[in-house]
Amino acid sequence: MQTDYRKYFENIPICPHCNQELSCCEAPPFHIGDGLGWGAEVLYICLNDDCSLFVNGWAQIEEQYGHSSSYRYMQLPNSKEANLMMVGSEDAFKGSVINLEQVESQNVRFQMEKQAIADLDSAIERKNLEPVMHLILDEAAAINGRKRAISMLVPINDLSCIDAIRNHKFRDTSLESECNIAIGRLLKANYKKECPYCSELIKSQAKTCMYCKKDL
Ligand SMILES: [Zn+2]
Ligand SMILES: [Zn+2]
Repeated sequence: MQTDYRKYFENIPICPHCNQELSCCEAPPFHIGDGLGWGAEVLYICLNDDCSLFVNGWAQIEEQYGHSSSYRYMQLPNSKEANLMMVGSEDAFKGSVINLEQVESQNVRFQMEKQAIADLDSAIERKNLEPVMHLILDEAAAINGRKRAISMLVPINDLSCIDAIRNHKFRDTSLESECNIAIGRLLKANYKKECPYCSELIKSQAKTCMYCKKDL
């Protein structure tokens, strides 16, 4: 299950040092110092490089501890408590900022995946290739759903699946080879083959391709 981060964007706190909105960051799994978790999925951190806390922190830490670091202001969700996080560079935590737009698009994608998995139950009976193809071509979908979808290609027996699969770049080569096996069976069941020169579907007994006219 993926985390739904949307709720953390409803009330984003303001930095008391620079009055800018804090950034919603994925919480690192451990406290740097004591090995305990934060007990929170996100941290609100002021990543404004012009924030007075951050700008003045370098000199303060240099003077107090003699090393090159500064502070970022941080609040936990559901707490007004002010925390200071020591950072060694301007870039610290910037890679963990959660982007709401991205969260929402992932969420839409996830809902569509869920719907497609539900639709698989009746896909064979209704000869419905749509949820099957949706899952096969969704690289972010869970592997089990995608494998189940591939297993339905032969029973649904619709040759129109071939082009989309052939044009898809699979990250997982085992899925790709399962697709290849299924397409092989599908072609055989329909007495077809793919022309080795132009990839069009032709009769399995054809001696000449009707599309590119090449001899086979
Ligand atoms: Zn600030
Ligand atoms: Zn051909």
